[in-house]
Amino acid sequence: MASWPNQLFIDNKWIDGASGKTWSVVNPATGETLANVALAEAADVDRAVTAARRAFDEGEWRRMDPLHRGRLLYKFAERIRASLDDLAMTDTLNIGKPIRDTRGWDAPVSADLFETYAGLPDKIHGKCYSSFADNMTMQVREPMGVIAAITPWNYPLTNAAIKLAPILATGNTVVLKPSEVSPLTALMLGQMALEVGFPPGVINVIHGTGAEAGAALIKHPGVDKITFTGRYETGAQMLEAAKSGMKGVLMELGGKTPTLVFPDAPLENVVNAVVTGVFINLGQVCVAGSRLLVHESQHDELLERIIAKAKGLRQGDPTDPNTQLGCLATPLHCQSVVKRVEQGKKEGAKCVLSGPALKSEADCFFAPTIFDQVTPNMTLAREEVFGPVLSVLTYRNEDEAVRMANDCDFGLMANIWSADGTRALRLARQLKAGKIAINGGGGFRGSSPVYGFKRSGFGTELGYEEAANEYCHTKVILYSMSTEKSPWPE
Ligand code: NAD
Repeated sequence: MASWPNQLFIDNKWIDGASGKTWSVVNPATGETLANVALAEAADVDRAVTAARRAFDEGEWRRMDPLHRGRLLYKFAERIRASLDDLAMTDTLNIGKPIRDTRGWDAPVSADLFETYAGLPDKIHGKCYSSFADNMTMQVREPMGVIAAITPWNYPLTNAAIKLAPILATGNTVVLKPSEVSPLTALMLGQMALEVGFPPGVINVIHGTGAEAGAALIKHPGVDKITFTGRYETGAQMLEAAKSGMKGVLMELGGKTPTLVFPDAPLENVVNAVVTGVFINLGQVCVAGSRLLVHESQHDELLERIIAKAKGLRQGDPTDPNTQLGCLATPLHCQSVVKRVEQGKKEGAKCVLSGPALKSEADCFFAPTIFDQVTPNMTLAREEVFGPVLSVLTYRNEDEAVRMANDCDFGLMANIWSADGTRALRLARQLKAGKIAINGGGGFRGSSPVYGFKRSGFGTELGYEEAANEYCHTKVILYSMSTEKSPWPE
């Protein structure tokens, strides 16, 4: 693997941080340092926001023919496609996610996102209110300005693409702050943006901690909107800081996805989907299906088959194409998963599958774990573990299943498995979550919007029309066609 950019990308230039400090980006599978990357602090944030502000206020970007803006996004998609192997391997080394997932999903999906949004710029429409004879009221949409995008470590490249594609398509400029844990692919995107010819200041990528760079970014007066993906606790803290600036905020936060399985569902498909849903990326997925709601008549058979499938998963070196489970992203995160598991045992849940974890220098491996006899009041049914931990809850009838599914502070996603389409749709209307997948749902679509209920956040990520709403200001222009003078103060 070639070396990675290790500076800050501001105004189409690579620069060191003002403080000269660096941060070691570590491979969690081996404990080796991959790169020492410049660390942004408040002065660097100011520099990046100033560049983005200038590019927005004075530059060509937002005035550019929208077709041209779309073409640049398409070129960006193609440039990313030319480096799928490198991008995938970088995230694999950086967060311990198996190469079959980063190469099979994260990297190509990220390129696709830019291609999808390359079609948006010339389709951002307004409205005309024409019911008055002497007045034409036009509603128009205009890019918002400088967007601060702050992302987590679990899908480093894809989360960056999810933010950048609609922000850029709508004519805004951006300061992207990836997680300090996993900045490498975001920095690679900076280099690719330079190569395909984005004007200076349109895309800026700064690496820094949440406490320093993140906090300075959300408070900066030059930022018009904050779009954040991360933990609920961080989001709540950010809202406090953002409110004095009255900035727009989009929050994509945590989840505790319930999977409601009905006895008429095709069992083999359910087993595969449940195992994938909670163990892929070792459960470090916002929509991980961490709560399984199973009917009492089916409990024993379903659980037995899930345990058997989970035991067969191959955990090991994330760079090996045969590996299905890699390691958790940091030792600190691994400790928080261990803590949740210990708490689950103390609260009386029955552990039916656990370890042993592989041994490694960095101590980040954690084996699939399943808890049975979980009840809705237990922490395992309420809090996000963000690890490979499945909680099994048993229900007696449909109403109880819905009650259990909704008895949680998060509402990002819910899964329903049933051969009865009418029941599935009826329940989909009752579940309190922004996304409901019926019988697997058919996978990720970059043009579909993502919503959150409750502590899972607010605002809309992605979606064509929705992206235009989220990242554009809407204004009305009132045009009088009257030839009469005003009746007042006559
Ligand atoms: P995190 O909240 O700890 O960090 C996310 C980002 O916020 C990082 O870039 C971090 O540096 C920054 N940050 C931290 N404190 C900050 C502060 N005070 N001010 C400004 N920025 C700050 O989250 P994480 O541990 O990196 O990611 C895991 C979380 O992300 C999980 O809860 C997961 O569910 C969530 N997530 C949600 C979605 C979604 O679409 N809803 C997608 C992916 C991940």
